[in-house]
Amino acid sequence: MTHVLTALAWPYANGPRHIGHVAGFGVPADVFARYMRMRGHDVLMVSGTDEHGTPILVQADSEGLTAAEAAAKYNRIIVEDLDALGLSYDLFTRTTTGNHYKTVQELFSTLYGNGYILQKKTLGAISPSTGRTLPDRYIEGTCPHCGFDSARGDQCDNCGRQLDPTDLIDPKSRINGETPKFVEEDHFFLDLPAFADALNAWLDTRTGWRTNVLRFTKNLLDEMHPRPISRDLDWGVPIPLEGWIDRPDKRLYVWFDAVIGYLSATIEWARRSGDPDAWKRWWQDPEAVSYYFMGKDNIVFHSEIWPAMLLGANGEGANGGEPGPLGKLNLPTEVVSSEFLTMEGKQFSSSRRVVIYVRDFLERYSPDALRYYICAAGPENQDSDFTWAEFLRRNNDELVAGWGNLVNRSIAMAAKNFGAVPEPGELEEVDRELLATTKAAFDTVGDLIGANKVRAGIGEAMKAVAAANKYLADTAPWKMKEDPKRQGTVLYTVLQAVSDLKTVMSPFLPHSSQRVHELLGGEGVFAPMPFIEEVADLDEGQGATDGPYPILTGDYSDVPKWESVPLVPGTVLEKPTPVFTKLEPSIVDEEIERLNA
Ligand SMILES: [Zn+2]
Repeated sequence: MTHVLTALAWPYANGPRHIGHVAGFGVPADVFARYMRMRGHDVLMVSGTDEHGTPILVQADSEGLTAAEAAAKYNRIIVEDLDALGLSYDLFTRTTTGNHYKTVQELFSTLYGNGYILQKKTLGAISPSTGRTLPDRYIEGTCPHCGFDSARGDQCDNCGRQLDPTDLIDPKSRINGETPKFVEEDHFFLDLPAFADALNAWLDTRTGWRTNVLRFTKNLLDEMHPRPISRDLDWGVPIPLEGWIDRPDKRLYVWFDAVIGYLSATIEWARRSGDPDAWKRWWQDPEAVSYYFMGKDNIVFHSEIWPAMLLGANGEGANGGEPGPLGKLNLPTEVVSSEFLTMEGKQFSSSRRVVIYVRDFLERYSPDALRYYICAAGPENQDSDFTWAEFLRRNNDELVAGWGNLVNRSIAMAAKNFGAVPEPGELEEVDRELLATTKAAFDTVGDLIGANKVRAGIGEAMKAVAAANKYLADTAPWKMKEDPKRQGTVLYTVLQAVSDLKTVMSPFLPHSSQRVHELLGGEGVFAPMPFIEEVADLDEGQGATDGPYPILTGDYSDVPKWESVPLVPGTVLEKPTPVFTKLEPSIVDEEIERLNA
């Protein structure tokens, strides 16, 4: 048994999430975590909402809310959506908790003490009329990269680049239109060049990574500069140094605190579990492994910057040092990055309304219908396009006509003719062949999921489904009225195949596997689901928000093993209701109309 940290990118809490987000990392990571648990590993799946930074403030302004109110609002919506999709988080939390603040500040202090945080003079903006610091987001100007005329002082919303206020052409205050005055002031930088050698050596030990991630990261190392980690901002984690901690206008940069979330969420989980040191099993045990899941726009933070921060906290960069109070921490085992999902040929965009939110999707379709599409056609290795026509085809032709039909026909026939799982007679060659096929799927599908090849994995599982459907068609047990013994053997065989396949399918399609388990007369939880719990902040008065908040958690201690379990003849079977819903072709036009409305 290995300790497996499954670390998912932190959704940004400035709005509800669309299906592109969950396609990139949510569902693939959940498939991996569920499979690894069934293999007997001690999995911890953590993440939360990323709630600091300018976009939260901008969204809050537009809704007449405070930043804390806006973050709380979208945190709750996102928690509910991820729950509805059945993503089996051990803990999905948020970055505004006292526990997160403490962890971030501890890591900052260790990096600072080890000499990896530089204090440098940079030009900061002040308002000439008030003499006060002008936060980055209140400065607007033309982006030097793309020419967009409403870029903000910290980033350009058009080209997505991070900016400094001094980069802007013709900067203006958004408060009163005056031209800001730039004065020298201190800011903090992560000394990335001090990690170039250590990162290179570490990357050389990484095998099995997707080649795009490795190549991209190696290229980054050719040109490293100190990276700013503090901003002129009033919403974020305070800087834990004397003279800084109480300043309301200086905060740690949002990305710096967000990547530390993987560690702080594990610590929060441990504290909530009643064993506060339990987090060390995933972060300090040299045998533990960690898999980070994200979209390709976030690779840099997971393959370069977060590993650099961990090396610095361990005292393993060029400036030396000692591990801090959190001890020597594990670097990522693998960085699993997906490509982008587009929608009917266009980039998802909330502002241009090319979007389908997870919530809206799940109001009309089942979570497993979406999970199936994402697993079978998601942006695993290349950009992929979501179209409603393809969703309809995959749902009706593959999920309903393939897997759903196999389940329904076989259980209905056995229920009607035997009322139970029939007692088999001597198996014939064709029976043994089918059972060998579904048993072999445990190895082939399992190996593919373990290598994060979800698309190929579900493809292999569906091949075994097709083999079972072909077996039914070839043996035609409905024509065996005269030979109940042979009919019982055939139905037993196909039910055993269905039972195996519900296990093989369960990481991809947990909701329907639970149903199939019950239709086969099984009791209790087969594919455990997360649940929402309202909790109090563990460190009240320290984070940015107080009072209860929803976390996503679950009990996954009792998952079935990744293996074939013999069905017990005589187990009572009832007439099944369909596991999946066939969709009307008219949904395609309806959905496209909704999109264009
Ligand atoms: Zn730009």
